[in-house]
Amino acid sequence: MPAYFDHNATTPLHPAAREAWLQASDRHWHNASSLYREAGLTSQALEAAREALGDLLGVEPERVVFTSGATESNNALFAGLSKCLPPDAVVAISAIEHPSVREAARAWLGRGRVLEIPVDPQGIVQPAILKALILQHGPALVSVMAANNESGVLQPWPELRELCRENGVHFHTDAAQWMGKLPAEALGTCNYITGSAHKFGGPKGTGFLVLADAAESFPLLLGGPQEHGHRAGTENYPGIAAMLAALKAANQNLGETSLKQSRYRDAFAAQMKQTFPGLRIISAGAPRLWNTVLMVMPRHDNLKWLTRLTRRGFAISTGSACSSGKEGSSVVVQALGASWEELKRVVRVSGGWDTSETDWRDLAGAFAEVGAELDEGGKGRAGTSSNPVMPSQFWD
Ligand code: PMP
Repeated sequence: MPAYFDHNATTPLHPAAREAWLQASDRHWHNASSLYREAGLTSQALEAAREALGDLLGVEPERVVFTSGATESNNALFAGLSKCLPPDAVVAISAIEHPSVREAARAWLGRGRVLEIPVDPQGIVQPAILKALILQHGPALVSVMAANNESGVLQPWPELRELCRENGVHFHTDAAQWMGKLPAEALGTCNYITGSAHKFGGPKGTGFLVLADAAESFPLLLGGPQEHGHRAGTENYPGIAAMLAALKAANQNLGETSLKQSRYRDAFAAQMKQTFPGLRIISAGAPRLWNTVLMVMPRHDNLKWLTRLTRRGFAISTGSACSSGKEGSSVVVQALGASWEELKRVVRVSGGWDTSETDWRDLAGAFAEVGAELDEGGKGRAGTSSNPVMPSQFWD
């Protein structure tokens, strides 16, 4: 039975989300902007969904804008800021942001207006470093993701947000990897929040951006006045209903899930270290998502591990095997001081809410088998193949 260990890339649709999507598509397929009764019902259902998400996050529903996902939300944020900030205002983003934050900020504001907040060797933004940056440069906005998609490292965003508040700076968090894996209520204290349904059992193509103020004019998509003027285009109500159903399902027994799953994940990591002396787990000492392990294998290129594990029915993700020096290839691993040579040996394993102890144990067993197979074929040589340029898998 294949085991899926790539939940940070995307998740399968939760049955509750599928059911909600089907029901919404049957009952509320009318255009929410139309004027007859049925359309009014769609509009009401849409506003009820906005309220439910607002409640879940602890923000006024008017601040919630439904989007097509985290990439659009992050673009909308910086596009909006580019229109309303003074031309000399700068923003600060962490060195480990997803490309949809980094590239959007640079493109919409210009490279010179985007400062980078360095991370410590564990991949964490230290409040003292951020404070010094704020005092020196006075950014208009700070953007630090809640949880990292590659390493799973959790940022101390409540402290960072507080620091920003004390200094009159707006704080944005890309919570795409946090939502559905950890409690969401406190996120509402951030000025801007990004989320994406397909990271927690919802459908692809649905997400949200929470605005600092409902009156802000942040339209990335121009056209009709949908989403209270924040985003043009007919609303994807079935997707939104499914996103909410998935979030509710993911949030059920979250405490229990995270305790149980982190035990399985830690046992897997221990077994891997025993089987492969020299294996390095990135940010092992930092608080991390309960489902993620980012590892530098002691030998053999990550693609070799991936293809052989795929044949055995396990889906994992490679780290960046990019040897071209192209920016954007596993920025996180680079930020943690890994060499180019090590980048070729990075693999990421990310379990899900229902991943069993046996799945984790079987995965460790499969790694051991593949390791023996590769050692046999390659006589245990370090993974320095001539494999030329591989794109990073972590743009997922
Ligand atoms: N931000 C983070 C932290 C992510 O992990 C991802 C998806 N991997 C995105 C943004 C982009 O999300 P989407 O696929 O919804 O555009």
